[in-house]
Amino acid sequence: MTTPVYSRVLLKLSGEALMGEQAFGIDPKVTQAMADAIKDLVNAGVEPAIVVGGGNIFRGVSLAAEGVNQVTADHMGMLATTINALALYNALKQNGMAARVMSAIPMDGVCENYSWWKAIEHLQQGEVVIFAAGTGNPFFTTDSAASLRAIEIQADLMIKATKVDGVYSADPVKYPDAQRFENLSYDEVIHQELAVMDMASVILCRDHKMPLRVLNMSKQHALLHAVMGENEGTLIHS
Ligand code: UDP
Repeated sequence: MTTPVYSRVLLKLSGEALMGEQAFGIDPKVTQAMADAIKDLVNAGVEPAIVVGGGNIFRGVSLAAEGVNQVTADHMGMLATTINALALYNALKQNGMAARVMSAIPMDGVCENYSWWKAIEHLQQGEVVIFAAGTGNPFFTTDSAASLRAIEIQADLMIKATKVDGVYSADPVKYPDAQRFENLSYDEVIHQELAVMDMASVILCRDHKMPLRVLNMSKQHALLHAVMGENEGTLIHS
């Protein structure tokens, strides 16, 4: 088998990706398919770590708009990411993989507390590590958590799995003639205000020279192609 170009990757999954065709929640068929794709990475010798969002359950911003205090709403959002992390953990374990969940908010008896050096040790021992509860702080997103964790664990690549196969000049659903970029610099993303991730996470990646590949995970073998250095989706770099 060919050797991967990237040995440690941080995969950011949105909460909505776990819904499948449902309008809310988690589709176990989808988490199983994700576990299969992650197993391919492990079998190829890659150390995958995962940050999962919570948008399939809810986002703090939506609740704050209804009048709930945003700090509380964001705490609830972070708990939603933990529900997703546990669902993914279950799928990985059922697929015979060594995995663990590390949470930025302590939840004894449910999952471990986050520690960057323990996370690195677990990855080196062949375990898939899922980071739950975002950064542990309100007013952030799981995209920012993903950039932060990718930098902390010294990942070689961050991968953002989306519904579309890369970054486009405009929303390809609304504008069918929108162009897909193969390569972008972080400064181009910032100056053209391309909707990739929130600005805080983009700037964190740029400042720490963390390459990011945006791809569609439901495309067969997309993840594997990305770690093999193939031209999958869009690559953003400093
Ligand atoms: N959240 C937060 N701090 C973080 C990460 C997430 O407060 O560091 C909260 C926030 O309310 C957010 C929710 O958790 O809306 C779910 O995360 P996100 O919206 O990023 O999920 P995704 O869009 O990736 O599904």
